[in-house]
Amino acid sequence: MNALAATSRNFKNAARILGLDAKIERSLLIPFREIKVECTIPKDDGSLVSYVGFRVQHDNARGPMKGGIRYHPEVDPDEVNALAQLMTWKTAVADIPYGGAKGGIGCTPGDLSLSELERLTRVFAQKIHDLIGTHTDVPAPDMGTNAQTMAWMLDEYSKFHGHSPAVVTGKPIDLGGSLGREAATGRGVVFGTEALLAEYGKSCKGLTFVIQGFGNVGSWAARLIHERGGKVIAVSDITGAVKNPNGLDIDELVKHKESTGSLLNFNGGDNMDPNEVLIHECDVLIPSALGGVLNRENASSVRAKFIVEAANHPTDPEADEILSKKGVIILPDIYANAGGVTVSYFEWVQNIQGFMWDEEKVNNELQRYMTQAFHNIKNMCKTYDCNLRMGAFTLGVNRVARATNLRGYEA
Ligand code: NAD
Repeated sequence: MNALAATSRNFKNAARILGLDAKIERSLLIPFREIKVECTIPKDDGSLVSYVGFRVQHDNARGPMKGGIRYHPEVDPDEVNALAQLMTWKTAVADIPYGGAKGGIGCTPGDLSLSELERLTRVFAQKIHDLIGTHTDVPAPDMGTNAQTMAWMLDEYSKFHGHSPAVVTGKPIDLGGSLGREAATGRGVVFGTEALLAEYGKSCKGLTFVIQGFGNVGSWAARLIHERGGKVIAVSDITGAVKNPNGLDIDELVKHKESTGSLLNFNGGDNMDPNEVLIHECDVLIPSALGGVLNRENASSVRAKFIVEAANHPTDPEADEILSKKGVIILPDIYANAGGVTVSYFEWVQNIQGFMWDEEKVNNELQRYMTQAFHNIKNMCKTYDCNLRMGAFTLGVNRVARATNLRGYEA
């Protein structure tokens, strides 16, 4: 099932549980605005090349729309649509005053030089600058984009609208980025995991963790779990997988990865088959790489007690059912990986205030938001007798529906 079908299915289940009026349900599903633009740039050799850029603005009932911009060859309107919708529910679950959006350009960033990427980003910004803004739609980095991409977007946008640091988040610190943003998603994953484990009288200390993906999110989650005395017993990335039943030394593994470019042949562990990672016995499994990795082929072999969805859509709906029947507790993506957008919100607040927070304040506020959101999800689970995924969806959808109703429908 593709991302749009899975997200819409979860939304519809939540709408049914909440007893939403069918007309409101339909209005919440249809995106506020879908933008598709042609982006033509001269390549370094002087030839012209054209790409298609998208921005889907899903909903703005609770505030400016918020979401990443990805550069990837498989960016397609359906997926951007699903991810924009997911951002609407995610920002509502985190209780930050935003709606949802997502965008992207269908390109292979690795095939473009730095100056080609800059030209492409500036052309895209020129095409959409009238439709984004500090109080309208605030882009951020996503797959294939980074702080530099946001710096170019900010610069191009400012040519039309004057200095506007809060128009994008995930910026370099020198241009108004927030301290703590780089680690925020992984840190949020760990705060969410701690809140979940506390419900069962447990903490990270002494438990075993397996992490798929060792990029920004996975490596930060691993570092912070290791710091708290959790045993990260297996880790994988695109280069392979490594395990140690007594716990990997994550700081050393990060150094090894930096120096060799690979997780393989690490002194403090043994290489393992990457296909075994998701079914390796552990207390907590944290998929932090790709969507759809837990599916009907492998779900019944999963041996974790808890799954924390750091990646977007790691569990497809069939796997969700199989795992729930096995009694595996799943902390859903719309909550578990909300730390990034929450610190993006802090960045926006700091830009609007013209005042920079220290990293301790950023991390403390992040913990407060993640812990509060977890308790709000649990309350929905109790009220509607549902699992954490439906607890999160009902929480998010209900907040957006309430805001929509309060605004009214008069033209
Ligand atoms: P990243 O590109 O930094 O890291 C991705 C990691 O996945 C890399 O280590 C890569 O080697 C690994 N990977 C790729 N294919 C793999 C495979 N087949 N098997 C095992 N590992 C594989 O990306 P990221 O920013 O860490 O994002 C990871 C996930 O988290 C994505 O699903 C993303 O949408 C989601 N997410 C990220 C953020 C954020 O702030 N970065 C926020 C919310 C959600």
